[in-house]
Amino acid sequence: MRSFDAIVLGAGITGTSAALHLQGRGLRVLLVDRDAPGEEATRGNDGLIGRDAYCAPALPLTLPGILAGALTRRRGFGIDSRSLPDLARFFGECRLTAQPAAVARAARALSPLQAVAAAEHLALARAASALRFFRRTGWIKLLRSPRVRELAEVDRHFARILGVPYADLDAVEIVRLEPHLRSLEEAAIYWPESQSVSSPGGVTKAYGRLFRERGGEVEIGDAATLLDTRRGYALRTVRGEVGAPIVVLALGAGISPVLARFGLTMPLAACRTYHRHFRAVSGVSLTRPVTDLEGGFTLTPMERGLRLVGGTELMSTARALSGLPVRANALHRATATARALLPLGSAVEELPVAGVRVFVPDQLPIVGEMPGMPGLWLSVGHMRDGFSLAPAMARLLADLVTDMLPLADPQPYSPSRFLVG
Ligand SMILES: Cc1cc2nc3c(=O)[nH]c(=O)nc-3n(C[C@H](O)[C@H](O)[C@H](O)COP(=O)(O)OP(=O)(O)OC[C@H]3O[C@@H](n4cnc5c(N)ncnc54)[C@H](O)[C@@H]3O)c2cc1C
Repeated sequence: MRSFDAIVLGAGITGTSAALHLQGRGLRVLLVDRDAPGEEATRGNDGLIGRDAYCAPALPLTLPGILAGALTRRRGFGIDSRSLPDLARFFGECRLTAQPAAVARAARALSPLQAVAAAEHLALARAASALRFFRRTGWIKLLRSPRVRELAEVDRHFARILGVPYADLDAVEIVRLEPHLRSLEEAAIYWPESQSVSSPGGVTKAYGRLFRERGGEVEIGDAATLLDTRRGYALRTVRGEVGAPIVVLALGAGISPVLARFGLTMPLAACRTYHRHFRAVSGVSLTRPVTDLEGGFTLTPMERGLRLVGGTELMSTARALSGLPVRANALHRATATARALLPLGSAVEELPVAGVRVFVPDQLPIVGEMPGMPGLWLSVGHMRDGFSLAPAMARLLADLVTDMLPLADPQPYSPSRFLVG
C-alpha cells in the first residue's frame, strides 16, 4: 500500500483547494476523484465570487408549502416528490434554524470568510497562472417585482450590519453599466465587490495543475471503497491501494453514500440546477453576472458564451446521484425571459446541463473533523457559495488539520451539530 500524509477525496473546487492548502503545510497529499478535476457542480456554476450580504434561500417550511413545491414549479423552483420521505429530517432541521436569530448568526459566521474569499482565490490564481479568468466587475441583481424588492430589503439589512458595500440602481444606471440590457423600468441592487470568473471549471483545473506542479499526486478512484483501518484510512485507486492517517471528504452530493459506509448520516439536500450557454449576438455583450430574482436565473459571460443558470429542483442526495433525466422546463421558461432582457444567439449545448449543489439546513457548510472518527475530515454543503469560499474554507480546514490558529471561528461549521450515527 502506498502511504500519504493526507488523501483528499473529490477534486471539485473544494477538494482541489483543500489539497493545495494541505500541501502548503508540508503534507504529502493525494487527490482522488472518479473523474478529472472540476467536472461536477464546480463546472456548471454562475462563476460568482459573491460579495453580497447573506440571504438565506427561501425554502418552504410548512407542510402545505413543501407539498406545493412538490406539485407545482413556481418561479423556477420545485421539489422532487419522490425525495420527500428522505428530506423529512432536512426540512425538520430547517424549521429549527430558520428563526431570525439563527439566520443572523449564520450571516455573521460566514461574513469573515466571504470578506477574504476573493483575495484567497486571487492568491491561488496568481500562483496557478489563472488570473485571466477573473473579473472585478461586480454583480447586478435585478428587482423586477414587489416580492423580490422585499427580499432585497433583507440583503440590504445584512449588508448594513456586515459592512458590505452596495448601490441601488435605477433603470438609467442599470443601462449605464450594461448598455445592452433592455431594463425597461427595472430597479436593481449592485454589489461592486463581487468578482466573477469566465470558467469555473478552468479555474479548478488550473488549481489542480498547480497542485501537481508542486509535487501533489492526482489519481482516479472511488471514494466508496474507503475503509477505516484503525491505523488510518485506506482506499483503492486505479493504481492500487493507498492509505493515510488523514482523509478529507470533499465529495459534494457524493458524500452521503461514503458516510453511510461508516453508519453516519447528515440532513443534506441536493439542489439540482441547470445551465446552458448561448452564442453572442453580434454587437451585444455583458460585462458582469446579472441575476433576475423574479425570473429565477443568472446570466454570466463565460468563455463558452453567455451562461444561463436556472431551474432548481430540491431532492435527496440519493436521487441527485441516480442519473435522473434532464427536467429543464423551468430553464426553458427562464430562457424566454432572458431573451426579452438581452438578445441571445443559439444554444451551444444540445440539452441543458445539470449541476448539483448541497444544501445544509442551517445554511452553513460542514467543515471539520468527524467526532469519534479521528482523521476523517469533511468539507461539504457549501450551497450557493461553494466556488467563492473554497480557497478560504480550504485555508480554515488546513489550519484545523495542522492545529494552527484558525482563519475564522470553526465552531459554526462543526459536523457535530448534525451527526447521527
Ligand atoms: C447551478 C449552480 C450555480 C452555482 N453558482 C455559484 C456561484 O456563482 N458562486 C459560488 O460560489 N458557488 C456557486 N455554486 C455552488 C458551487 O458550484 C458548489 O458549491 C461547488 O462547486 C461545490 O464544489 P465541491 O468541490 O464541493 O463539489 P463538486 O464540484 O460537486 O465536486 C465533488 C467531486 O467529488 C467527486 N466525487 C463524488 N463522489 C465520488 C466518489 N464516490 N468517488 C470519487 N469521487 C467522487 C465528483 O466527481 C466531483 O469531482 C453553484 C452551484 C450550482 C449547481
